[in-house]
Amino acid sequence: MDLITSVATLTTATKNIVDLGKALNASSKSSEIKALENKFLSMQGETLDSILNAKLLIHQLHDENRKLKKELMKVKAQIEEKQKYTRLEIASGFFAYVQDEPVKPLQDAHKFCSNCYDKGIKSTLETDKISVFDESPTYIFNCNGCGNTTKRSELKP
Ligand SMILES: [Zn+2]
Repeated sequence: MDLITSVATLTTATKNIVDLGKALNASSKSSEIKALENKFLSMQGETLDSILNAKLLIHQLHDENRKLKKELMKVKAQIEEKQKYTRLEIASGFFAYVQDEPVKPLQDAHKFCSNCYDKGIKSTLETDKISVFDESPTYIFNCNGCGNTTKRSELKP
């Protein structure tokens, strides 16, 4: 039973009780009085049930409202946090999230794995530089969050 139905039932029951009270006062036969009293008690029980149902529904709505407010706060905080970072190409064809505050050069900026970041997880990219003799260096980006490892020969400045 929803809140509107519960309140409607309560209103009808209250009206019926008032009508019964009037009939009870007007009646002079004891059998009629007895029948009216029984009906009155039955309706009183239904009215109490309606009140309890309405209270229960209000309590459930308060709980739901509190949960939704908490979830909204969490989502707002996540959105605010996301606005602090920008997805940048840190090596040829490789993207990461970097804090908006300018850090020069880009290589020194703290970088987060874009794969994890898009799932709401801030996982720092570990960067290693491997140089073998005179060959150009290879950069290895490793994310401990998702296990993604990427190798690139050039970093963006
Ligand atoms: Zn990752």
